[in-house]
Amino acid sequence: MPHHHHAPTVTVLTGAGISTSSGVPDFRGPQGVWTRDPAAAELLEIDRYVRDAGVRARGWRTWAGHPVWHARPTPAHRALVELERAGVLIATLTQNFDGLHQVAGADPASVVELHGSLATTSCLRCGAGVPTRDVLDRLAAEPDPACTACGGVLKPDVVYFGELLPDDALARAVAATTDAHTFVAIGTTLTVHPVAGLAPLAVDAGARLVVVNAEPTPYDHLADEVVRAPIDEAVPALVRDLLATP
Ligand SMILES: [Zn+2]
Repeated sequence: MPHHHHAPTVTVLTGAGISTSSGVPDFRGPQGVWTRDPAAAELLEIDRYVRDAGVRARGWRTWAGHPVWHARPTPAHRALVELERAGVLIATLTQNFDGLHQVAGADPASVVELHGSLATTSCLRCGAGVPTRDVLDRLAAEPDPACTACGGVLKPDVVYFGELLPDDALARAVAATTDAHTFVAIGTTLTVHPVAGLAPLAVDAGARLVVVNAEPTPYDHLADEVVRAPIDEAVPALVRDLLATP
């Protein structure tokens, strides 16, 4: 591959659609978790989670069986790493908590996990952090595992409904968005705020907007390019185009 000497100009926002071909279901798509089982969304409501041990036990069982633990990066994840290695990428902003950008080889410092990460778990009382796998290993004996330091409620570091985004994540995302010459939204319905607002923010700041998603989004009318092709074909092709642009 030839060497490129671009200034970083591209910011990417990814949603669940980039991971579905790896076996991680999305939430709102036709086969989405919440489309098939609307009650599943209740397990992610922070108020219910905090006050109801039964909700927590169901939640932990769901996480234990989640396909994310066996998922592998897709061709789209890998193509974005090429963009990063060519020096073209400002940041990857992701709504996904599956860590697949990093598994594909992305520099963790360049990935902004706007909706948190399933890899780690924190105590809601004392803030102690532990690997989520270690918590899942305790489920057989303890269906609602408590913090070993203080007895507090444990919760995966995924942003639940009613919670704020992780410290600094939105500020970093806004900076990467307003710096971009090209903003590419991949596999996101662009319906969950505040993250969805990054797309019109990019346009306001003068960026070219590219939307890659199977279904229409509320911001398609602002896009310079809308791609409906399957993500695992569309993203590698898009990356080739971006790397070919002088
Ligand atoms: Zn604690």
